[in-house]
Amino acid sequence: MRAQIEILASLQEIDREIREKHGARDLVLAEIHRREQEIEAKKVEISLLSGDLAEWDKSRREKEKVLQEDGQKAMEKRMRMNRIKNIKELQALQREIDQIKQNNTQLEDELIKVLEELEARTSSLKEKVEELKKLEDAWGEKRRELEVQLEGNLIERYELIFARRGGMAVVAVSEGICQGCYMNIPPQLRNEIMKSERLNLCPSCHRILYYKPALPQDKQL
Ligand SMILES: [Zn+2]
Repeated sequence: MRAQIEILASLQEIDREIREKHGARDLVLAEIHRREQEIEAKKVEISLLSGDLAEWDKSRREKEKVLQEDGQKAMEKRMRMNRIKNIKELQALQREIDQIKQNNTQLEDELIKVLEELEARTSSLKEKVEELKKLEDAWGEKRRELEVQLEGNLIERYELIFARRGGMAVVAVSEGICQGCYMNIPPQLRNEIMKSERLNLCPSCHRILYYKPALPQDKQL
């Protein structure tokens, strides 16, 4: 019984560690989610602002076009006045020209407002793009940190592989063969496994691999 209780105690320790790692992983995943949503929201903001900016720019072009056309019309009318002697016709033409001038004054005021709006939106867009860049830069750094954290979560990976691979997550490589799926392990990977500096997975069955020396007469891994 004593031996069994001891096994239970170590099992409990492992379970507790797994639970802790799960908590840590959930926090990391939540952080990833939060950051990505923040960046996504900023992108939506930028896209809306760009659309808005395009509308205002369209309005600017339209007003400028009308102003130019009206200027042309007014000039043509003034040239016609030079050739007309009839006073009534002259007065009528002058009224048309005045009307155009009046319209233009109004249009110019509107155009100034449009240009102000355009300027405000352009600088606001520039600000947002800078904010996005900052977010993305900061996130890139943080993401690498988190990925390292997740990668370091060995028990979790072990647990996942254990569940997916029929209760066998860690297997030896013997004579260049994965003892989990009996596929050949490429030489480069064999070297990595021998060095054992990081976690190496079988390319075929994705189990965790470790080095097991072959028989003395066989130098190959
Ligand atoms: Zn394998």
